[in-house]
Amino acid sequence: MTSIDGEQSSLVPHCELCSTAMTLIGRLPRISLQPSVQVFRCLSCNHVVSAEHRLSAPSGEATARGG
Ligand SMILES: [Zn+2]
Repeated sequence: MTSIDGEQSSLVPHCELCSTAMTLIGRLPRISLQPSVQVFRCLSCNHVVSAEHRLSAPSGEATARGG
């Protein structure tokens, strides 16, 4: 039997035009409250997209409890 790989961890997005794995060409630092933005480029059709690199943190208002 062959073990089927469940999900493949792909850090880079795929081009929405030709479905090709995009390459990280740049990264913008976070400005003010906005998260850092990563710029990906498709080497196939030169399509450029920007993806916000959001951290998986359940940001919530600090519930200050006390009496
Ligand atoms: Zn493309």
